Amino acid sequence: MTTGAEVTARTLKSLGVEVIFGIVGIPVLAEACIAAGIQFIGFRNEQSASYAACCYGYLSGKPGVCLTVGGPGVVHGLAGVANAQVNHWPMLHIAGSCDTDQVGMGAFQELDQVEVTRPYTKYSGRPIAIKQIPFFLETAYKTAFYGRPGPTYIDIPGDLIQGQFSGNVPIPKALPPPPAVLADPNAIHAALQLLQNAEKPLVIVGKGASYACADEEILEFVQASNIPFLPTPMGKGLIPDAHELCVAAARSKALKEADVILLIGARLNWILHFGGAPRVNAKAKIIQIDIAAEEIHRNARVDVALVGHIPNVLHQLNTSTQPSLPKLNASTSSWLKELTQKVKENQEKTEKQCYPQESAQDAASKALNYHTAFGVIKRALPMNTDQVVIVSEGANTMDIARSVFDVAAGRLRVDAGTFATMGVGMGFAIAAQIYYPSKRIVSITGDSAFGFSAMELETAARAGLPLLIIVINNNGIYHGLTDSDFSKAVKDNNLPSTALLPDTRYDMIAEACGGRGWFARNKPELEKALKEAWAEKTKPCVINVAIVPGGRKKLEFAWQNKSEAKL
Ligand code: ADP
Ligand code: MG
Repeated sequence: MTTGAEVTARTLKSLGVEVIFGIVGIPVLAEACIAAGIQFIGFRNEQSASYAACCYGYLSGKPGVCLTVGGPGVVHGLAGVANAQVNHWPMLHIAGSCDTDQVGMGAFQELDQVEVTRPYTKYSGRPIAIKQIPFFLETAYKTAFYGRPGPTYIDIPGDLIQGQFSGNVPIPKALPPPPAVLADPNAIHAALQLLQNAEKPLVIVGKGASYACADEEILEFVQASNIPFLPTPMGKGLIPDAHELCVAAARSKALKEADVILLIGARLNWILHFGGAPRVNAKAKIIQIDIAAEEIHRNARVDVALVGHIPNVLHQLNTSTQPSLPKLNASTSSWLKELTQKVKENQEKTEKQCYPQESAQDAASKALNYHTAFGVIKRALPMNTDQVVIVSEGANTMDIARSVFDVAAGRLRVDAGTFATMGVGMGFAIAAQIYYPSKRIVSITGDSAFGFSAMELETAARAGLPLLIIVINNNGIYHGLTDSDFSKAVKDNNLPSTALLPDTRYDMIAEACGGRGWFARNKPELEKALKEAWAEKTKPCVINVAIVPGGRKKLEFAWQNKSEAKL
């Protein structure tokens, strides 16, 4: 005799599932999975558990699994499912549901979960007999990472979970990696011809290339052709940012002037300004590599479509002989010279903002801002090495951190992604630490973004994960107010909707949840906190960094200008 829970657990184990992120009430399924040798990380909110699962899917290249209760558990977990859909990451959400003979009767936590998840998934199904469970799970698991990656959902009714089955239930074996797809040789030919004729070619490396682990092939392409490359936020590190052909610091110029763009695993959506004017040269010829034919020509007509698995397509380009890869001449190409010059200028600007010229006393006593705080972190921690994984969220925090912190290798940086989801940081950091047990996870987050999921500090403490969370605290969303401006705004009844309570002690939440906390208001305090937190081996650490609340730009709110006028 076997139960549906055991069949589920044995199937997942056999398919290769090593860890499940979730929250369970009556833990029959979770306990069966643990008994089958699968690690279970129990979260405090399904939202973070599902974020963890989709991040694990991105990092591992296999579906990240999330297990929740039905009804509200599925609704909360939908956050990660939708995030996986928008980012095209493989994920499998499994939830319990009401007994098959109670459907429609107003059962406990009843929801038509198959219907609810269907628009956000590649596949959503419900077995109605124990012996069907392996087939449904295998289909969902496979569908999540074969073809274009994305989320899937499986519903397991309560009577199946607890039910007994006496016959033989064959358990599916582990699946081989997704079959590789090659691009049409004629299109390879056309792509190389376009590149041969380009004066200002540009490679854009997206997170699809990171996901596909195309690190070596893209490096080979770039080295052989001398074509400059621009990583998207999560394409960073695939070729180290420090590479001389990286033009991340000259992004605007590169996009505006490139005449041929080789787009590798990146979509022409808002992140790349829809591939057109004014931010991208509207006359540029575009060669697009993607696994999904339906992605080709979205928002901008491309000139050559290379549909296939990125490492394979790059190999086709790298090894073609007639025509072969062109090579830009570093000493004669004005394109390369101009970009290199621009990169240098912009890097110097950033460097000056991080390390302004000031007396040692000023540097020690002055309030920090984004750049000066990041400058301290950059010197204190080995950020640009493969020892560190960067998790980044929060609007300004993420934007500015992206330009300050170089990334040393592929898949070492995760952020709010295509969906611009704030609140992913804790789930992502936990997933990253589970996937990379010997690396340090450094999460650089805004105060608002951190607030979405701060309770997951308890999850991290319970799991013994030494996450290093640096909260860049400016008392608000985008920016907040100083203590006295806040009090005045309360009194005048004109508190902006983006303000948060000044100087909230996020560090103390860490202490209360079994972690460690530091409050840093200036350079020496931040340096000391980073040193002590870096030495921590088992507990999550929160460094709450108070920065100037005014934000990086002049405050644009009418109320602010009004109060300034009054002054
Ligand atoms: P970015 O945010 O870096 O611009 P996107 O998420 O917009 O990246 O785009 C990634 C693209 O990569 C998606 O369109 C996806 O279909 C594609 N992709 C994912 N895996 C592969 C693969 N193995 N081979 C080719 N393309 C892939
Ligand atoms: Mg903030």
